[in-house]
Amino acid sequence: MSAEFEKLGREAAAANEDYEQYLLRLTELELSARASNAIASRIRAAGFKVLKDLDTFDFTAVAHLSKAKILELARCQWLDQHANVCLIGSPGTGKTHLATALGLAACRAGKRVRFVTAATLVTRLEEAQKLYQLERLRTQLDKVDLLICDELGYLSFSQGGAELLFQVFGDRYERRSLLVTSNLPFAEWSKVFPGERMTEALLDRLTHNCHIFEMNGESFRFRESMKNKKSKKSE
Ligand code: ADP
Ligand code: MG
Repeated sequence: MSAEFEKLGREAAAANEDYEQYLLRLTELELSARASNAIASRIRAAGFKVLKDLDTFDFTAVAHLSKAKILELARCQWLDQHANVCLIGSPGTGKTHLATALGLAACRAGKRVRFVTAATLVTRLEEAQKLYQLERLRTQLDKVDLLICDELGYLSFSQGGAELLFQVFGDRYERRSLLVTSNLPFAEWSKVFPGERMTEALLDRLTHNCHIFEMNGESFRFRESMKNKKSKKSE
């Protein structure tokens, strides 16, 4: 308001607006600036690796992926229902891109989001445990409306690490949303989680009230690089 009051005052005088109209415009400007600052700070706090949005996502590149369903998720009602999303598919099929886009939509809808890879999350949990700060970290994670856990399945976890991740997923069950991306189909999750029973219990909680998308197909990266090669040849 302090940055704009003089300019708006001159405009109001020139347009013969009364004081109430001037004050309304000034407060509206302040509110919209605050709202966009809040969105920007939620996006910063989320810790996305890249800022990829839905407008650059090519839905025709992923067979069987329903654009309508993804757009529906971008309206963020699933977060109020404490539902989860799983994106399963081979590398380069757009999982991180979509996860980020849904996370951005959540930030814009006023939700608190955290984006981490599964490996980083487990490392952080293990470190916090060593420093007797595990409860603090779990409380912090609990405040987040949407926890995005990217790249589950590339690295397997120690028994301790898997248990910590299991607790975090369990904490959120029916209270807060999770978005998990993985290159592994569910049947192979026991490869990264030690023990069939833990894997089963984890999958049970994660997939209850969950929107699951299989994004298998050719790698988008790979296909784009082939396209580039072909067009170079034909030049
Ligand atoms: P994944 O996480 O499944 O390995 P990414 O989301 O990292 O894949 O995608 C790899 C690259 O290809 C990224 O730069 C991403 O933006 C792009 N990409 C993947 N799928 C699509 C798509 N359907 N439309 C547009 N870009 C895509
Ligand atoms: Mg990825």
